[in-house]
Amino acid sequence: MFERQAVSFHPCVPSLNSFAVFGSPLTLAFAFDFRDQRAINDGGKIEAERVDGCSKLLVNCHHHMTLVKRIDRDVVHQKRMGRLCRGVNARLRSRSAATMPSAPKRRLLLRAILTGLTLFLATPALAQDRAQRLLAELADAPGPPGFEEPVRAVVVRELRPLADAVSYDGLGSVIARQGSAGPKIMLDAHMDELGGVVRRVTPQGYLSMQMLGGWLDQALPDQRWIIIGSKGPVHAVTGIRDVHVVPADERTRVFPRDGLYLDVGARTAAEVEALGLSPGDPVVPDSPFTSLAGGRYLGKAWDDRVGCAVVIEALRRLRASGHPNQLFVAATVQEEVGLRGARTAADLIKPDIGIAIEGGIAGDTPGRNSEETQAAIGAGPGIFLYDSSAIPSRKMVALVRDIARVKGLPLQADLVQGYGDDSAAIQATAGGVPTVNLVVPVRYTHAHNGVMDRAGFDRMVELVVGLVQRLDAKTVAEMRDFTP
Ligand SMILES: [Zn+2]
Repeated sequence: MFERQAVSFHPCVPSLNSFAVFGSPLTLAFAFDFRDQRAINDGGKIEAERVDGCSKLLVNCHHHMTLVKRIDRDVVHQKRMGRLCRGVNARLRSRSAATMPSAPKRRLLLRAILTGLTLFLATPALAQDRAQRLLAELADAPGPPGFEEPVRAVVVRELRPLADAVSYDGLGSVIARQGSAGPKIMLDAHMDELGGVVRRVTPQGYLSMQMLGGWLDQALPDQRWIIIGSKGPVHAVTGIRDVHVVPADERTRVFPRDGLYLDVGARTAAEVEALGLSPGDPVVPDSPFTSLAGGRYLGKAWDDRVGCAVVIEALRRLRASGHPNQLFVAATVQEEVGLRGARTAADLIKPDIGIAIEGGIAGDTPGRNSEETQAAIGAGPGIFLYDSSAIPSRKMVALVRDIARVKGLPLQADLVQGYGDDSAAIQATAGGVPTVNLVVPVRYTHAHNGVMDRAGFDRMVELVVGLVQRLDAKTVAEMRDFTP
């Protein structure tokens, strides 16, 4: 894995023109010297690095004739690159004539970018890291409750090729079905995240915010936010009182959310309006994905984008391996404001078994009361035995424990007060559904900067795949049998 670092240019190419192309699912930055014909024709190297979970490609365009041969290996990637490179080309054309290369140079430039990008995308190590790219893309997508569109777009793009059918409930939850016979298994993860909506614009150009979901007041001041307005995203900051003027007795006090405001830099309400902002616009934390040391990922919304990524990767593997069920992957909406999408999705699915995949609450940081939670990130999947919304099916718990034992996966027990999850909504539908809530433990949920562990994610995918494979008509009948 590449470490986080600034893009470094090749020392023999002092003057570079750079172009950024933002394309899903990768964010790519191209840097290229097209003024030095000799460098383009004769030498150098292609360097790639990953920054903040996105891919940055540095093309110094040397030895490209050698590398061109390797393009042919992967036609799919060529097509994808073609799309991206058309974007590069459009940007090239839009630049001034003074910096534009000649037509032959442009062809060389494009070919070199194409070559480098194909090589980059075809690298097996990077193909293996599809999961990291997916996690980064899901975490960065803005989607507070009721505004899940950007997350839904990613989820549907990923689920559609893996499912027999994709449909929606009336609130916007995604339901992807795989398999047409056997018991109905609902595998749930919610798409929404903690956020807010603009409540009011003041005459001075500040915006107050209605929070959505369970925020601590102390998590709100002095943070960067993105408001999704009608003209696109607008950066904002929640102010904080200046220590130089705060009375001594207020310095250790939590700043109440009622005094909170968003500062977008505007001076008047009219300037706010000109930015395309108005009451009701969604607000999300501005916390780009960052890869930390030790295989840990920093980002917002691991609750529950980690669950979204788990169900997608599990469905991908189950498509290859097969299973004896009608598997319904439900990516639900509005969990953070009352488990609403899980209820409506389950109404449609009428599942025989419900499995929620969530972000769990880690207790592996200093100064914690070990009665609160004991889970550690990266130490294995968590299984909820109690939370304030649901008691899990004891038979499902036993089944999950057995699968974890057979697969050699450590399983962590979770009992958390003040925690609710979609399994609670699912279990109260269709005459009652045996459910279980499985979690990837996460540090600092419901805040701007959560930390998850990649190995914890991989193990959860493994567990979920094993569980869906083990469930069949006979096992599900046993789960639903309450005969004394
Ligand atoms: Zn959640």
